[in-house]
Amino acid sequence: MKDTLARATAEGGRIRAIAVVGTALVESARRRHGTFPVATAALGRAMMGAALLAAASLKAPDRLTLRLLGDGPIGAVIADADAEGGVRGYVQNPHVALPIKANGKLDVGRAVGQGNIVLSRSMGDAQPYTTTAPLVSGEIGDDIASYLLTSEQVPSAVALGVLLRRTGTVQSAGGLLLQVLPGGEEFAQELAERVEALGPISSRAVHVAGSDGLLHDLLQGFSDVRVAPPDPLSLRCTCSRGRASRSLLLLGPEALGELIDDGSAELRCHFCGRTYRYGQAQLERLRADAKKAVRP
Ligand SMILES: [Zn+2]
Repeated sequence: MKDTLARATAEGGRIRAIAVVGTALVESARRRHGTFPVATAALGRAMMGAALLAAASLKAPDRLTLRLLGDGPIGAVIADADAEGGVRGYVQNPHVALPIKANGKLDVGRAVGQGNIVLSRSMGDAQPYTTTAPLVSGEIGDDIASYLLTSEQVPSAVALGVLLRRTGTVQSAGGLLLQVLPGGEEFAQELAERVEALGPISSRAVHVAGSDGLLHDLLQGFSDVRVAPPDPLSLRCTCSRGRASRSLLLLGPEALGELIDDGSAELRCHFCGRTYRYGQAQLERLRADAKKAVRP
């Protein structure tokens, strides 16, 4: 099953639903970051959540960054997504191990802890627009739903799931966002029951159906169901040597001078792990550019 994102509406647009299947991209992120199981689950849920939020609220070329800033051992969980199916993410402390919960599930809530969920949307070159809400459980799906209700006044159901094999590799990962727009309140109860009946979003059955099949199953029987053909979803980083150089430039001539004294500098992208190296001559050139930028 390929990684995809599908959108649907029903009841004349009063019901809106988005589904994602992201098994391969969450497994790639796990391998890249070497995350332990509870961190894999947290990272995978955050990336699925960011993909859903981006699909619900962005237009290309905008981006959205979801930050879960809790006081748990995992530290910050960061995921970002664009409007064209690109997703990336990382956790501050990937090597966290916690006891399994009584229900057999990974304790993502404890790993994340208490704190805030912070959502930033950047549109072109404008300053990112950021909103913050408290985390309600640290389980990520609940936190996003609560954020959407309190900060954006849209009642939403958010289900996120990452299922791991015994070996810690990702068996399946997916997510679902359901929103009832004004005038559709009468459907809320029925939809909640259907999401419940669907079972865990990470279950194998959900993934056999694919993101569009999942929406067909969920909305069956409602009127005017429209499910768009699914779009591809993939792990994609936007870092580049040009961006790395611009961030070095922002340090200013003085800090660059210190790096020149050190002989070299290395910038590592948190999202993908790629490293950008700068030798003395390259740093000298950057310092010269920084000096030009400082002068009026
Ligand atoms: Zn990168």
